[in-house]
Amino acid sequence: MPGTTHTGDWRAQLSPQHSLPVQPNRDRMNPAASTPARATSHAGAFARLTAFLSGHRCPGCATPCVGWVCADCEHRLNRPQLRCVGCALPLTAALAAAAKPDALQATNTDTPAAAPRDASQPPPQTPPQPAATRCGRCLSEPSPVAASYAAFDYAAPGDRLVQALKFNQRTALAAPLAVLLAGALPSGEAAPDASSCAAQPRFDRILPIPLSPSRERSRGYNQSWELVRRLPPALGPACWQTLVRTRDTASQMALPHTERERNVRGAFAVQRDVADLHLLLVDDVMTTGATLFEAARVLRKAGAASVTALALARTP
Ligand SMILES: [Zn+2]
Ligand SMILES: [Zn+2]
Repeated sequence: MPGTTHTGDWRAQLSPQHSLPVQPNRDRMNPAASTPARATSHAGAFARLTAFLSGHRCPGCATPCVGWVCADCEHRLNRPQLRCVGCALPLTAALAAAAKPDALQATNTDTPAAAPRDASQPPPQTPPQPAATRCGRCLSEPSPVAASYAAFDYAAPGDRLVQALKFNQRTALAAPLAVLLAGALPSGEAAPDASSCAAQPRFDRILPIPLSPSRERSRGYNQSWELVRRLPPALGPACWQTLVRTRDTASQMALPHTERERNVRGAFAVQRDVADLHLLLVDDVMTTGATLFEAARVLRKAGAASVTALALARTP
């Protein structure tokens, strides 16, 4: 894929209004403090007072805060999580759900089962956690997507942020959430087809999972598009209405797992040429993957070279 030259941390390349709030350096805030304990106390009291006066409450936990979320929620949203690259499940949950009893050994195609270690060699510093880790289910069932990534679990506080964006008209959350979304893509990993050097993935087009026209009219916006259009331009062009929804479907979260595939089957159509393109497909929540995978199947059938799935939140 041409132009895969981007490297580095997304957060450093975003415009100031997209930047996540940085916790203030307490020493700089109060250089005259005679002890670290006193500096911490003063800074904490100052932050609490500022938060109280601002009247702003964290949309993740409802405590007063000055940033877009409080420091605790920000920490929880940014907590590293090893995920299956096929379905984005947290790997521990994915392993528990896997039918294969040898799933633990099968989760990593790049790292074979541990062999007896040569005692003359030093022990490894950290356990291997390659980006290509897949759960047993994804190893045994072919997937229509090249890879799946998610920014955080659909659990507190992330679920509240998604609900605020989706149901409470809080579209201002889309900008900081798009930063987290972009950060879910692995840095330093080549794009699915990449024959070139390791680089941040870039895509020919970035598409949101579409809503049905009636649902979009009633909501006033598509929350996935609100995220897509705020992603860093270096990821690729955001494209509206390449993929459309041909009929309304029941909410996936309200359905049992067995009915989710049937619920979205035939619900999408491609109305622009995607032949030989590498696509990034974005949804706000990935429940079982049925919606993203059905959309990916339709795009692949229309000739797309690859589809990578990216969700803000993954139901664990
Ligand atoms: Zn919070
Ligand atoms: Zn998986």
